[in-house]
Amino acid sequence: MNNKIEKIQRWMQQNNVDITLISNPKTIQYLTQFYSDPIERVLMLVIFEDKDPFIFCPELEVGSVKEVGWNHSVYGYQDQEDPWKIFASQIRSRKVPNQVIAIEKDALTIDRLESLKQVLPSSQFSVNAIPMIEQMKLIKSTQEIEKLKIAGKWADFAFNEGFKAVQLGRTEAQVAAELQYSLMKKGIMELSFPTLIQAGAHAAEPHGATSSNKIENNQLVLFDLGTMWQGYASDASRTVAIGKPADKLLDMYNVCLEAQLAAQEAVKPGIKAEELDKIARDIIAKAGYGEYFIHRLGHGLGMSDHEFPSIMKRNKMLLQKRMCFSIEPGIYIPGFAGVRIEDCVYVTENGCQAFTHTSKELQYID
Ligand code: MN
Ligand code: MN
Repeated sequence: MNNKIEKIQRWMQQNNVDITLISNPKTIQYLTQFYSDPIERVLMLVIFEDKDPFIFCPELEVGSVKEVGWNHSVYGYQDQEDPWKIFASQIRSRKVPNQVIAIEKDALTIDRLESLKQVLPSSQFSVNAIPMIEQMKLIKSTQEIEKLKIAGKWADFAFNEGFKAVQLGRTEAQVAAELQYSLMKKGIMELSFPTLIQAGAHAAEPHGATSSNKIENNQLVLFDLGTMWQGYASDASRTVAIGKPADKLLDMYNVCLEAQLAAQEAVKPGIKAEELDKIARDIIAKAGYGEYFIHRLGHGLGMSDHEFPSIMKRNKMLLQKRMCFSIEPGIYIPGFAGVRIEDCVYVTENGCQAFTHTSKELQYID
């Protein structure tokens, strides 16, 4: 049995959970190495407190499950069959007396929960497995950190290609296309999110998307990008200058950089998540831009860029070795300009290491 599944079994014993149903494809990958998102078809990892786990999947995936080295049972079903009936008969065959079932409440749809309740009428789907899984994902193994480092190297490659593609009159989308094509030619087919390139005032919308706006002279251009490597994500931002940006733009950049560097420098085991946020926020506020830093300092990173720990006010979690997260202060002045500088890091014995190494000195592109 692998360590992660054993950990879940211990949690089940302590919490009187009889069966854990894992339905989020990313969580199944985290626990078994097997990844597939079968969309409307049913995929489940089923963990018992003291019996062998099994994977339940479309028939066409059975071979791939075995290929990743899953050496427990796997059951397939064909499209014309009722997956829930077959699933329930496998569960019943295990003869688990009480059936308190833990589910991923953020992944199992109501529709699927209703199907489960129909075929397993005496079970209670009362326990949420999510907090336990999030807790497990917090501390990365050395193998996971190796994968995150490689994902980071591809993000650095992407910045380099993207900066080369910047030209006056080109659109944000054209630059993003060049950057992504360069990655694809190297075999990197999956991004952790759609590449974000925003020029000038457009960059003041931190949740905006790459548009067909043209890049103009004397602007700042914000890049935010990430690649996937064997299931692990990178996520990094850089802001570059075109021509000779006005002093106010350079000031925004310098303040943001100072905040980013100070927070990254302060990372070490035992510091609270909220303390890092405060370090960056105080620098930005002192320079007069406090009202323009409108999001948390960072988020956890692993198989996605939406993990814990959240680096923000009110999060008193003590950071520990091998936690991974972003440090990404931003200054967004509506209608004027936006700056964000982001590296993801992992906590080491007495500090941290970044996954991305593209220079954070303001780069001028002409
Ligand atoms: Mn980002
Ligand atoms: Mn991020």
